[in-house]
Amino acid sequence: MTQSESEAEAAESTESLAWRLEADFSLLEARERLIRLREEIAGRIVFTTSFGLEDQILTHLIASEALDVEIVTLDTGRLFPQTYALWAESEARFGRRIRAVYPDRVALENLVADQGIDGFYAAVAMRKACCAIRKVEPLGRALDGASAWITGLRADQSAERKRMPLVEFDADRRLIKANPLLDWTREEAIAFAKERSVPINPLHAAGFLSIGCAPCTRAVQHGESERNGRWWWESEDEKECGLHVGPDGRLVRGPQIQSDGAERMT
Ligand code: SF4
Repeated sequence: MTQSESEAEAAESTESLAWRLEADFSLLEARERLIRLREEIAGRIVFTTSFGLEDQILTHLIASEALDVEIVTLDTGRLFPQTYALWAESEARFGRRIRAVYPDRVALENLVADQGIDGFYAAVAMRKACCAIRKVEPLGRALDGASAWITGLRADQSAERKRMPLVEFDADRRLIKANPLLDWTREEAIAFAKERSVPINPLHAAGFLSIGCAPCTRAVQHGESERNGRWWWESEDEKECGLHVGPDGRLVRGPQIQSDGAERMT
């Protein structure tokens, strides 16, 4: 068997595992979903956290079940002070190191030289370039060699996320992507965190429902969607950072990045 044939065979078996897990996940609680992932998947499993409400719940579950899952964050360098404080508090509370992945230094220096420190307000393309360098490329490195990727996405966060499955095969990254809280409501997440005293970002109480980089996140008014607080100066169909959804609004099945990191970012 050639190398490409054996890679295709491995991808097919990973894809069928993803389908099986997707079918089973609807019957399981979040904690059971995480345990099941660890039982079924060999190799590295990476959970990427941005310290939002859902991510904190997943960190709590992973730590309380002592699961061998690597917890990683993408430190863009533009996070809120409250987020950095929660990062430190979470490591102390859960007894787990949360590994930081940083942007490529040279790419970041060139970006800031080209467009200035807050150039992302000026044009969608400039914002996409910033997300590509500060988030998307580091995510690729965080997931390099991983067998599975766990996220804290919830379906009711945006129209695009409603179309996501609980588990899928990411063909380009050749890994299983799992969203164990996809079918949770925000109210369920809040109640769970309160009941278990899970530490959460104090910005949530100030109306910041979805928390990302400080200059690109604002509080939302009652009745506004969570994603209205992100990149509020852009039209709705532009609002993703490239980690999960493509520029045409369709789900990304892997890294849709050009080598210059620009045009296919959202
Ligand atoms: S969210 Fe804003 S600051 Fe953060 S990477 Fe994207 S454009 Fe840059």
